[in-house]
Amino acid sequence: MVNYNEALEIIKREFEKLTLNTEEVDLLESFNRILAEDVIADVDLPPFDNSAVDGYAIKFSDRTQWNIIGEISAGNFSSFTLTENDAVLITTGSKLPMNTDTIIPIEDVEVNGNDLSLKQSSFFKRGMNVRTQGNDLKKNEIAVHRFTKIDAKTIAVLASCGKEKVKVYSKLKAAILATGDELVPINEKPEGDKLRVSNIFSLHAAIREMNQAVINLGFVKDDKEIITQKIKTALEMNIDLLITTGGVSVGKYDLLKEVFEKQGVKKKFWKVNIKPGKPIYFGVYEKSERRILVFGLPGNPVSSLVNFYVFIKPAIEFLFRQNEINTITAILQKDLKKKDGKRHFSRGILFEENGEWKVTSEFSQSSGNLVEMSRANCLIEIDEEKLNPKKGERVKCILI
Ligand code: AMP
Ligand code: MG
Repeated sequence: MVNYNEALEIIKREFEKLTLNTEEVDLLESFNRILAEDVIADVDLPPFDNSAVDGYAIKFSDRTQWNIIGEISAGNFSSFTLTENDAVLITTGSKLPMNTDTIIPIEDVEVNGNDLSLKQSSFFKRGMNVRTQGNDLKKNEIAVHRFTKIDAKTIAVLASCGKEKVKVYSKLKAAILATGDELVPINEKPEGDKLRVSNIFSLHAAIREMNQAVINLGFVKDDKEIITQKIKTALEMNIDLLITTGGVSVGKYDLLKEVFEKQGVKKKFWKVNIKPGKPIYFGVYEKSERRILVFGLPGNPVSSLVNFYVFIKPAIEFLFRQNEINTITAILQKDLKKKDGKRHFSRGILFEENGEWKVTSEFSQSSGNLVEMSRANCLIEIDEEKLNPKKGERVKCILI
């Protein structure tokens, strides 16, 4: 059995070896994808000196009275040559007329016909209210760095650089397979000792949340032959990750480890010193150029999803150099029971009160309680050495 940190390191090292493919997509389709190139500005940003306000463009001097000789609005530039005596009405964003360097806001002047004068209480400085060409970014500099996740902020920069097509990393492809004799499809009412297969849906959604691709392989019974067939087919698919659920514990029908081994998957670890999700298996399948990372997760829907959040998600973020801020330190509102040396990921509800983050954990913490998990918004991470954290202590919470 390995500790959490070691297990995550092992997983990250294997993710690092995956081949990252790239593809070109239309700018709008690049939303939420990871940029696979440094995008260089092909123009200065902003592309010309322009006014930051609605006002009057002048050539700076110690005058406080001018003669208005015309106007310029955004996109409708007119050529004027101003003397120190002159001013041109200018709107926000408009290109400055030649020979001007200062804009006096409309609120600071009085206008009488063509006569313009500074209000008594107002003042101005040289260069005031001018956004200079290239002030945001100079032409040929990097506008957006490789590995940036393209969001509403960055897409505007890409548009300003004329990127109609964007090179992004191809999505990782994951396949999900559930195992268990107890499982029935969700359109059936479970009878007796059966239950609806639910964890493939949560894992599917979790992968989609990360904007990666996922294939649903459904579920199979705890039958060595059938599982073998399914795993064999899966390992022949063009996928990066194979995620199975169920059958990785120590029971008589926990068949996955054996099947993985027989199919040539090299085990990296089995069992991590955590709760929930301890039986997690991780291995690597390599054939010619192909590499598939294999995760055998326990069947309990809470355990498998916690495993995803604390192993697979951080590894994908690591692979794509994403530095997501997804933890918050909060004050525990009630004592938590923890008597063992495992790392716990307890379900909690984070909230803000009087400017402080607080976390409650009024849950049974049973790994069978999916509804509880669905009502939590964080996992309270408690280190191996820490025992029974008390009300009032600060704890690390992973947002989920
Ligand atoms: P296992 O890891 O195979 O020992 O499964 C542990 C328990 O998790 C089972 O007894 C079921 O109650 C539950 N379970 C297993 N697989 C699934 C699944 N695909 N969807 C929902 N619950 C499951
Ligand atoms: Mg099972």
